[in-house]
Amino acid sequence: MNKYLEKVLAKVEAKNPNEPEYLQAVKEVLSSIEPVIDANPDFEKLAILERIVEPERIITFRVPWVDDNGQVQVNRGFRVQYSSLIGPYKGGLRFHPSVNQSIMKFLGFEQIFKNALSGLPIGGGKGGSDFDPKGKSDAEVMRFCQSFMTELYRHIGQDVDVPAGDIGVGGREIGFLFGQYKRIRNGYEGGVLTGKAVGYGGSLARTQATGYGLIYYMREMLKANGGQTFEGKTVTISGSGNVAIYACEKAQEYGAKVVAMSDSNGCIYDKNGIDLAAIKEIKEVKRGRVKDYLNYHADAKYMETADRNDAPIWTIKSDIALPCATQNELSLTSAKKLVANGVIAVGEGANMPSTEEAIEYLQENKVLFAPAKAANAGGVSTSAIEMSQNSMRYYYTFEEVDKRLDAIMTNIFKACDEASKQYGMEGNYVAGANIAAFQTISKAMLAQGVV
Ligand code: NDP
Repeated sequence: MNKYLEKVLAKVEAKNPNEPEYLQAVKEVLSSIEPVIDANPDFEKLAILERIVEPERIITFRVPWVDDNGQVQVNRGFRVQYSSLIGPYKGGLRFHPSVNQSIMKFLGFEQIFKNALSGLPIGGGKGGSDFDPKGKSDAEVMRFCQSFMTELYRHIGQDVDVPAGDIGVGGREIGFLFGQYKRIRNGYEGGVLTGKAVGYGGSLARTQATGYGLIYYMREMLKANGGQTFEGKTVTISGSGNVAIYACEKAQEYGAKVVAMSDSNGCIYDKNGIDLAAIKEIKEVKRGRVKDYLNYHADAKYMETADRNDAPIWTIKSDIALPCATQNELSLTSAKKLVANGVIAVGEGANMPSTEEAIEYLQENKVLFAPAKAANAGGVSTSAIEMSQNSMRYYYTFEEVDKRLDAIMTNIFKACDEASKQYGMEGNYVAGANIAAFQTISKAMLAQGVV
């Protein structure tokens, strides 16, 4: 490895020994931009990499709230304002018990690159809390969100930092957060949060954007590799949340047969093709479990997840696998099973869902691999379109937003493809995505001086 890269990696490891997810994300990026670093020896003196890996600011705060039994609960809130080089900090909020500084930093770091790839003026950030919305009443979720925003509001703004949803933060939570922000600020600052519901500033097609965008990116990747399409392909999609549901919808529209979806407890397999209306009702209306699908289709099969390193969904035969749930859900063991079953393409809808070893194995075995920071950039891109609509005080139609989303995803694929070719790594879209994004970020950094 290039000496400068080695030095930076060693420093990052020494400084952040207890942050495995963050180290994993940094390592993945640094190891794939080596040809650019080789070509720019002056980057070391300018400490370009040291400046990219260090967040501009990390905010942590106490979030006290009262549950339905009158018991006071305390959670920890985070906002990592990673990079404002190309626009206001932008990235979602995650509410999940696993949230800690390592996960916030890995997501924020990835976000800088993803947002650069989108070609839109948005910097990188991420936030959230170890609060678990599962099993909480609407009133509890509202009290939590209000308390969370009572601290967060002083750090954000439509020109400063614009949070959105992520795991555990959907339309309901964004609504509560927005209401509290508006109340504190005494002003209607529509662009301060994205993922708002349609009718008070939200953009049409934002709900669908990440899932649809993933399929648009996959469509381009398949097309560029032998003119393949989704038509008639068998697809497995992990998760059954926002990203998974709309990836399923678009894949089905393109003529694919989606046979399996999952949640953290297990997966359902329906050889006749997933009934998406049933999944939407279970997840979006009843907030139930994927297992409840058996109440709709008794002939489907449910498999419990006993070992997360060998999730049952990846043992099912498919042409295309789309991990759309969470980080490190697709292990080397799973990658081997996918390859043995003849998978031709894997597309990351979730953030960093595949382990480093899994990616290596898939690429070695000539599986087309679409990395998260490129393939799931449709969500944040549409959030940026929501921000511009808020600034204009105007709404685009669903078709207008969807058309822009499609064009953005097509361009992102093109950028990854061209960058991979430019450095002699044709077809390696992980390297292509990292290099294309890094070129944009480093250029902005050089232009703005030592800041
Ligand atoms: P949701 O909260 O809507 O859904 C997450 C889904 O993943 C749930 O079905 C959840 O099940 C499931 N899940 C969680 N852990 C596991 C696991 N170990 N195995 C299987 N399923 C699991 O989140 P989103 O759909 O919004 O986000 C999913 C991923 O996509 C995340 O990595 C997020 O960062 C990423 N992403 C999201 C964007 C967006 O616009 N929403 C944009 C870009 C990326 P359960 O109910 O059991 O927890």
